[in-house]
Amino acid sequence: METLYRSTRDTANHTMTSSQAVLQGLTPDGGLFVPVQLPKAQLDFDYLATCSYQEVAYEVLKLFFTDYTEAELRACINAAYGDQFDDPAIAPVTKHGQQYYLELFHGPTIAFKDLALQILPHLMTTAAKKNHLTAEVVILTATSGDTGKAAMAGFADVPQTKIIVFYPKDGVSAIQKQQMVTQAGANTHVIAINGNFDEAQTTVKQLLNDHELHEQLRAHQFQFSSANSINIGRLFPQVAYYVYAYAQLIKQGQVKNGQTVNFSVPTGNFGDILAGYYAKQLGTPIHKLICASNRNNVLTDFFNTGTYDKNREFFLTSSPSMDILVSSNLERLVFYLTGSDPIATANLMHDLQTTGRYTLTPAMRAAIKDFWAGFVTEQQDQTEIHHLFARHHYPIDPHTAVASAVAKQYQAATRDERPMVVVSTASPYKFPQAVLGAINQTPTAADGLTAVDQLHDLIQVPIPATVQALRNAPVRHKLVSEPADMGTTIKQLLNLNKEV
Ligand SMILES: *Cc1c(COP(=O)(O)O)cnc(C)c1O
Repeated sequence: METLYRSTRDTANHTMTSSQAVLQGLTPDGGLFVPVQLPKAQLDFDYLATCSYQEVAYEVLKLFFTDYTEAELRACINAAYGDQFDDPAIAPVTKHGQQYYLELFHGPTIAFKDLALQILPHLMTTAAKKNHLTAEVVILTATSGDTGKAAMAGFADVPQTKIIVFYPKDGVSAIQKQQMVTQAGANTHVIAINGNFDEAQTTVKQLLNDHELHEQLRAHQFQFSSANSINIGRLFPQVAYYVYAYAQLIKQGQVKNGQTVNFSVPTGNFGDILAGYYAKQLGTPIHKLICASNRNNVLTDFFNTGTYDKNREFFLTSSPSMDILVSSNLERLVFYLTGSDPIATANLMHDLQTTGRYTLTPAMRAAIKDFWAGFVTEQQDQTEIHHLFARHHYPIDPHTAVASAVAKQYQAATRDERPMVVVSTASPYKFPQAVLGAINQTPTAADGLTAVDQLHDLIQVPIPATVQALRNAPVRHKLVSEPADMGTTIKQLLNLNKEV
């Protein structure tokens, strides 16, 4: 069965193939692409338990990317999930204390976004060939730290593409900043903005929907696309690791095929956890998806009250990739909660844009039973890092710690004893200052590579090769821009002001 895509806000029944949706990224009406019909799958977990990550990924991706041939999909998968990962399992499942940890940080930028962004460029260039696209694809991305770097690692020197990344100048860790400004590749551009992630993301969305800018790009043989988690080429590859994690639990003898488990997911833009929701729809035995937040707990309030309200103070936390007040991918869940009603979805999103808030109807609220939500304070986050290391000698990063701690809140509140899988989204070496401070229970001034070395002395886990490489990498990107000038910066970088 072919899986076609439509916009969450479209009432005219326009559809697109998966490769067209990958190329386009965002829909023209500002909505997000969703499958017209959810693929019907018969996931055979006894078989999947014998499979490699690459094989599981193929079984999942073939359901969503139906206009790619088997050879094309397998080529994309093999190119994405190879020895750029430092663990052949790609996404190993380990057990520490009572919880399982799905480690998604073994890729080139040591955060989970690699699982999606190593494959997106291949899905995109394959899509460009299939659709006879001659224009150069310009990837425009706002990042809260991890996306931009992971996207550049994926797209660097990929022919027929350029990538432009905006990040909040003071909203990322020292290691993240160093990863960003040292990015190699003639087609990569990195710009720090004097603003926060939401400002960057909102402006990027506006630019992606700016018709005049699109015309200018077309005249210069460029076409925009997005590497943000709104792109289906990022979202659906993430479904694979939920399926793989469950298959691994069977293989390790931790669960019997069919026994339900919970996943706790450190959530920002709602892409990762939404992939879990799709995994559940496909038949993965998941009971609850636990939406774990830091102090920026807009999602916790949403799930617990039915009202999404971004009119609140914004906090910079030690889990910066979750410092988000507008979670883009939530629109897809809202679409399902409305019973796939594009008008109701558009109305709620209109409320969000004009008033900064919207409220679900009681019927919609009843439909969110697949989720449970909680948040932690900075102190609780540090305590979780400390406990895991002190009791189980397992160092975790501050994002993973949010999910690990909220998972325990859930268990205490519900007495649910199902196996709990904590989605581990970053290596402790990506946030060494925060992890050091938490384990030692005293803040440290050491940051960047100094903190990496001190952390290594403490935890005795090998420093990933990509972190070692930062030691001698030259700084290549120095541009700084105001949020209001992002459009102008793009025009300059692409030389759009010259006559054609
Ligand atoms: C991006 C990110 C998250 C949040 O994931 P979303 O898909 O945006 O919800 C959590 N942890 C880390 C380390 C990340 O990079």
